[in-house]
Amino acid sequence: MRRKLVVGNWKMHGDLKANKALLDALVAGLRSYRNADYAVCVPAPYLFQAQAILQGTGIAWGAQNMNQFEAGAFTGSIAPHMLMDFGCSYVIIGHSERREFCHESDHVVAAKFHTAIKVGMKPILCLGETREASEAGQAEEVVARQLDAVLSRFGAQELRRGVLAYEPIWAIGTGRGAAPERAQAMHEFIRKRVARLDETVAEELLILHGGSVRVTNAAQLLSMPDVDGALVGHSSLVAREFLAICQAAN
Ligand code: PEP
Repeated sequence: MRRKLVVGNWKMHGDLKANKALLDALVAGLRSYRNADYAVCVPAPYLFQAQAILQGTGIAWGAQNMNQFEAGAFTGSIAPHMLMDFGCSYVIIGHSERREFCHESDHVVAAKFHTAIKVGMKPILCLGETREASEAGQAEEVVARQLDAVLSRFGAQELRRGVLAYEPIWAIGTGRGAAPERAQAMHEFIRKRVARLDETVAEELLILHGGSVRVTNAAQLLSMPDVDGALVGHSSLVAREFLAICQAAN
């Protein structure tokens, strides 16, 4: 039985004061929700703050990106072990915004996924197609290519210590999430693709859903058999909304 996981992706939002109010509210609000797991992926400068407030609460925290190398001359980059120094359990890898704006290739994303696991974090590998690909009927092809970049290089066992997140790009930040049945179909496709290589890994694998998961659609999406949780952007910045989504998972 897979346990649901809800992860907030704060993106490039927040400041010390607003973060404290939000994190305090999550700590208070999630205290009684014990039937699922919860995490927030905060901007790197606030990892120390997240660690200070969340340690010992049962809420995990993580980062939104990292370098694929363990150290080196990469000005402005953050090494995996640096995230570990701040107690990160999770790191988002290959978010569509990084694939698009920072030109991260499938190859680089796969390398990051591998390095994160090597240092002991759980990478959340984001997969998802553009609107154009979706309209051209190429959604499965794109998602399969992104997934295979990890599977063909590192094997299905690699996924045992990671998490997947299917986030159709056309749904992210639009307020118009995928219909639950449509989300389910892609989640099932992903799980079956992993099952071709390893049925046990596929059965245990958490596949989160992202892209305008809101209070209004969370319960329906989370009731789908292959939707194991949510990666939440916009609604993770408002305690009341994030808590309501967590309650739906709980
Ligand atoms: C995201 O970008 O990871 C995301 C899910 O964003 P939103 O919930 O705002 O669509």
